[in-house]
Amino acid sequence: MSEIRKHYFLEEYCLIAPGRSKRPSVFKAEKNEGTSKRCVFCAGEEDKTPLATAVYKDGNILKDEEGSRISGWDMRCIPNLYPALSPDAGEVSSVSDTLPGYGYHEVIVETPSHEKVIPDFSDDEMSLLMKVYRDQVVHYESLDRIEYVSLFKNWGEKAGASLAHTHSQLIALPLRPPVLVEEMKAIESLSECPYCEVIEKESNSERLIYENNHFIVIAPYCSMIPYEMWLLPKMHIHHISEFDDEQLVSLGNAIRSALSGLLDNIGEIPYNYMFYQLKDEPGYHFNLKIQPVTTKAAGFEKNTGIYINTMPPETAAKYLQGKFED
Ligand SMILES: [Zn+2]
Ligand SMILES: [Zn+2]
Repeated sequence: MSEIRKHYFLEEYCLIAPGRSKRPSVFKAEKNEGTSKRCVFCAGEEDKTPLATAVYKDGNILKDEEGSRISGWDMRCIPNLYPALSPDAGEVSSVSDTLPGYGYHEVIVETPSHEKVIPDFSDDEMSLLMKVYRDQVVHYESLDRIEYVSLFKNWGEKAGASLAHTHSQLIALPLRPPVLVEEMKAIESLSECPYCEVIEKESNSERLIYENNHFIVIAPYCSMIPYEMWLLPKMHIHHISEFDDEQLVSLGNAIRSALSGLLDNIGEIPYNYMFYQLKDEPGYHFNLKIQPVTTKAAGFEKNTGIYINTMPPETAAKYLQGKFED
């Protein structure tokens, strides 16, 4: 039996239609791309990328210089070779509805190893990655004319990754994206933080997938796509810069656990994850959304904005915890 569900607090809907459901084994057949074992992100190929703006090595943060690229690094931040936006774009015109393509587009190479994926990362590697995220977001948000930093990860060709080597991306924008402007309006119209209410409600629901001291991972009630996951700090925190070191470790553990659940129980599914946070908006509640790429938005979704999801989140939560034998 299908049902139309409403988002917790936004005017968004999804159509849960389990009758059309594919079993997870169908997804398991889909293999991630990548037969080549080396690429420009690999250790030893540093001279094939632009100069790194931040190189994390043995607890230090360094910078590449022309003629001397740093080797033996743990993680490396480099400008995108084909940036969507550039810091060299022109001045803002006050009379036009066009903004110059001003901004920054960076790639965070998460490991020198071509083969490694997030579920293989050690505790130390996960917590370093969270620190890199925090440092880079804070840095780009501090720059002149930057209003928002989009931080996300595409993994797998179908999720938009052009290289198989695990990496994240950051795009610093001269405007706050409309999706967050709208969400903030909705939050301000409510008396309580809706995410804090979601946490209270879902902590005891069948949609809870994982929890540690500081974070929960849930399959949202109005799940747009199969195996969608939301990761939320239990405390009301609006921005990654507000997490202390212990909370950053918990954030890393929660991300790794969610992705390990996906890999171990469903298969090598391409996915995107996106950070949602707003600097200087203590009313916002930090969250991270993980969206596996198992289906494509088609005519109905584009026409209505309503997604047909063949995997009820209650069932997805069980699969993601390995609670169903297939
Ligand atoms: Zn590589
Ligand atoms: Zn909250």
